[in-house]
Amino acid sequence: MIKFLRELPKVELHAHLNGSLCIDSIRELAENVYGKQAEEFTAMCERFITFEKGAKLNECFEKFGFVHELTSTRKGLQYATELAVRDFAKDNVMYLELRTTPKSNANMSRRDYLETVVESIKNACNQYAITVKLLPSINRSEPVEVAEETVALSLELCQNDPDIVVGIDFSGNPSQGKFSDFMPALELARKHGLKLAVHCAEIDNPTEIREMLKFGMSRCGHGTFLSSSGFAHMKDHNIPIECCLTSNVKSGTVSTVSAHHLKELMEADVPKVLCTDDCGVFDTTLSDEFILANETFGLTKSQCIGLTMEAIQHSFATPQEKLKMKMQLYSYTRRHEN
Ligand code: 5GP
Repeated sequence: MIKFLRELPKVELHAHLNGSLCIDSIRELAENVYGKQAEEFTAMCERFITFEKGAKLNECFEKFGFVHELTSTRKGLQYATELAVRDFAKDNVMYLELRTTPKSNANMSRRDYLETVVESIKNACNQYAITVKLLPSINRSEPVEVAEETVALSLELCQNDPDIVVGIDFSGNPSQGKFSDFMPALELARKHGLKLAVHCAEIDNPTEIREMLKFGMSRCGHGTFLSSSGFAHMKDHNIPIECCLTSNVKSGTVSTVSAHHLKELMEADVPKVLCTDDCGVFDTTLSDEFILANETFGLTKSQCIGLTMEAIQHSFATPQEKLKMKMQLYSYTRRHEN
């Protein structure tokens, strides 16, 4: 089963770029771009992937600063993007949607940031057997003007690279910022054809959850605190919930893997996809998440194939790309029928 899941051609729909670098890749980036010796990094790396039991979601957001420093130059960002894509490809991910928050600093504007990521995705796709899309992220703890700039840049980049820039992610610390303030920017993106992946019900905030469901989205990140009627809403509107088992448990929003809502979603046949969220920070891979689901909930091979099929359906890929993925999945499963 483990071999089957590791080699299964997989689809990753919820991956934050700066959270997706595994420790070895962080070391490689630090050494090759900044000339930092691996030893200097050992203690920092340990802290990066260590979570105290009972960790709080709020604390997790502090972890990213460590990688953000390494991706604060064009060269660092380019190298990091290529490494992240390489790591997913190594895990037999055939299709990846990466999200990242454009940042401006003395080295780069937000435009430079996004252009660098797009170019690096193109380079990486020439090297590895993987298709990669980009969802620029709106960080809800930043001002609305930044979100407006991100949407404007995304629409512009989408004109040049419609095969790469396909949507907008709404993320950041859910206890900061008001969703309703960002609705006009998100609406503009949607009106111009960008899909919306919204972190929704990550914490228990019934007013905001109601606002988000009413506003609508193409996919829902986490959905941890949705009620049964919220799940029913997702089913009725065919909105998949992006489930990130290890992330939710390590960041303390779900108590144990066996208590994860994936079980209820499976039983109620609500659309769902299995994702990593931040495979670097949470020290996991998409294969590990499938293995965990198999070990915890007894997911069979055919259920894992079914989940991958759902991920293909709910991806922001073109119809041709979806067909190609289905054929790849089909030919893999045919080979492993016995
Ligand atoms: P980046 O956007 O810098 O490439 O990836 C890291 C950022 O993604 C974090 O600073 C945070 O804004 C967002 N992020 C990563 N993981 C999570 C998560 O589990 N929940 C939410 N709401 N945001 C996240």
